[in-house]
Amino acid sequence: MTGSGLRYTGRFAPSPTGPLHAGSLAAALASWLDARAHGGRWLVRIEDVDTPRCVAGGGEFILQQLAACGLLPDAPPEWQSARTALYERALAQLIEQGDTYPCACSRKDIEDAQAALGHARERHAALPYPGTCRHGLHGRAGRSWRFHVANFKQKQVSALDYQAPIAINSVANELVHWQDRRLGSQVQDVAAAVGDFVLRRADGLWAYQLAVVVDDADQGITDVVRGEDLADNTPRQILLQQALGVPAPRYLHTPLVWGDNGEKLSKQNGAQALDLSNPLLALAQAAQVLGLPALEDARNRSLSDGLHAWAAAWRRNYNGDRD
Ligand code: GLU
Repeated sequence: MTGSGLRYTGRFAPSPTGPLHAGSLAAALASWLDARAHGGRWLVRIEDVDTPRCVAGGGEFILQQLAACGLLPDAPPEWQSARTALYERALAQLIEQGDTYPCACSRKDIEDAQAALGHARERHAALPYPGTCRHGLHGRAGRSWRFHVANFKQKQVSALDYQAPIAINSVANELVHWQDRRLGSQVQDVAAAVGDFVLRRADGLWAYQLAVVVDDADQGITDVVRGEDLADNTPRQILLQQALGVPAPRYLHTPLVWGDNGEKLSKQNGAQALDLSNPLLALAQAAQVLGLPALEDARNRSLSDGLHAWAAAWRRNYNGDRD
């Protein structure tokens, strides 16, 4: 149970851009363990909205990999590609409320406007959208939809909200505060860090931010447990939750796996496909990343034995904050 009496519901939400690797298995294991440690439900959602990045059969393969590791969802997996009506409805609500506006800018338009403002892009650093279309398209055709961060007025938080109150300091200075179960107190000035972010892309595809918020709310997710590389998306998602009037889940961002080049392990930097000929060994490596103790007598343990032991260790590490 969560503090509000709602049943704990967690999820793992992989994008099917390739098979699971050591980093994504650690995130999957963490979300599964957290659900088990709370006696809750664990769902899997295949985030296949960014179709150009998805690989054929990728979602099915990930589900097989999870099953091989004994990580079985408590309900049939959902596929975002089948849920676009929900995203349409959410965007229509935001349009109606005046929380989003159409944007005509191409990537080059944005870079030119940033350069004109004297902002030079540093390597890897993304600059906030300069707000060119915020007050009208001036005869240009809208291509994407952006969330109007500065226009955002704090909505009545639903009575179902089970997160500590979220402070949004003012309309001109959108500081979003949140409490991460592992990283502690976090704050982001969304306007300064990312600016008005995209909800629907120029190519018509749904942006991750909108789809993830709509789905977490629709599926009753009480706890999001995912990799730390996604932590800086959380304030945008909290703003969207407030704009849509849906509850904010609690968040726990897990440690990442680092590649030999010192960068976070990802498909882009050559993460090896997982060797699941011995799933317990792969899980033991994931558990180590998560700071869980090694199994005693690992050779003679079954998969369910190992998962059980790690769930108990996880409960000791992370449940004190709720129960
Ligand atoms: N689909 C996202 C990814 O694979 C994760 C989304 C989430 O957990 O919020 O990076």
